[in-house]
Parts: sequence; C-alpha cells; structure tokens
Amino acid sequence: MADAKWTLFMDRDGVVNVQIVGGYVMRPEQFAYTPHFLEAMRLLRPRFARLVIVTNQQCVGKGLCTQEDIDLIHERLQAQLRVQGTPFDQIYCCPHLADASCTCRKPNIGLAMQALQDFPDIDVSRSVMVGDSLSDMQFARNVGIIPVHVGTIRHPEFERILDITTSHFDSLYDFALHLDDFPFFSSASDVR
Ligand SMILES: [Zn+2]
Repeated sequence: MADAKWTLFMDRDGVVNVQIVGGYVMRPEQFAYTPHFLEAMRLLRPRFARLVIVTNQQCVGKGLCTQEDIDLIHERLQAQLRVQGTPFDQIYCCPHLADASCTCRKPNIGLAMQALQDFPDIDVSRSVMVGDSLSDMQFARNVGIIPVHVGTIRHPEFERILDITTSHFDSLYDFALHLDDFPFFSSASDVR
C-alpha cells in the first residue's frame, strides 16, 4: 500500500469530534463527529501504518469528569470505528491542568513519546500531525513531524509555523480527499 510507513497523529476536539465552545465533551452523547469523519477514516486508515489520537483533556484535571468518563468516550469511538475496519492504533490523553507543568500536555511532546514507546516502528520523519489549534502545530514542530492545520480559524502564529499554501484544510475529510496532492507524499515515492 502507498505510504505504508507513514504515521498520522491527530488531535481530537475540532478534528474527530465537534468542539464544545467553552466546555468539554465528558459523556458519549456529547461526542458528535465532524462532517464526514467516518468517510475520512476510510480514506486515511489504509494510507498510514499508524494512526493515533493525541488529546489534551484538562476537564479531568479540573475534576469536571474522570479518566473513566474519557475512556468510555474513546471505547465507544473505537467500537464504532472497528465496525468499518478503521480503528485508531491508540488514543493518548493528557488529563492534567494547563498549569500543572506536566510533560504530556501539548505542545509538550510527552504524548508522542508514549506513542513511540508503544510503537517503535513510528518514524517521526514520516509523520504528520493534524490539528486545529496553535498548540497542535507547536507540538508537531516540537516533535519534528509535519504540521497540518484543519479548520476555519487561523491563528496569526500559523503563518510562522506553517506553509499555509500546502498545510491548511477545512476539515479532516478535506485533508483526506487531498492526500494525493500533498507534497510530502509525492516526495515519499520510495514507499509506493
Ligand atoms: Zn499531561
């Protein structure tokens, strides 16, 4: 399969599911996919050897919900994805407060380090990070993987971090549709 050595890191809120503005997704019934998410996964899953979520869930650290609440949401997500044969390899979550100085809250690289420990075959030089926030793009740069921004809100700092002309898509589905146009894949022809 083309590009079979590549890994896709993915943010959750705003990429997989619709972000709750000013709040958190703490129960499965609050978890709503972004448009065409399941179709996006059908396009993306065969193209990546590894596909993982890296997500900050400060709601746990704030005591608004428990790790078990978050795990339940992720178990339901994975169960639905397994039905169509496109589960994530793993879902990594930082439950800590923003001011807790942990090493796993994006843009820190801890969640990527956990993924590398679990899957030593992940090659950061052949990895992409899709996210909607500045911290996602900074995380990508800190780890040394290719940042791709999805969503309609662009932070002024993006222009410094991203090549906007090649790294911005309206949604995960939009990114999935344009995978073949993407410069890093055309330059990775050795794995085709
Ligand atoms: Zn953390």
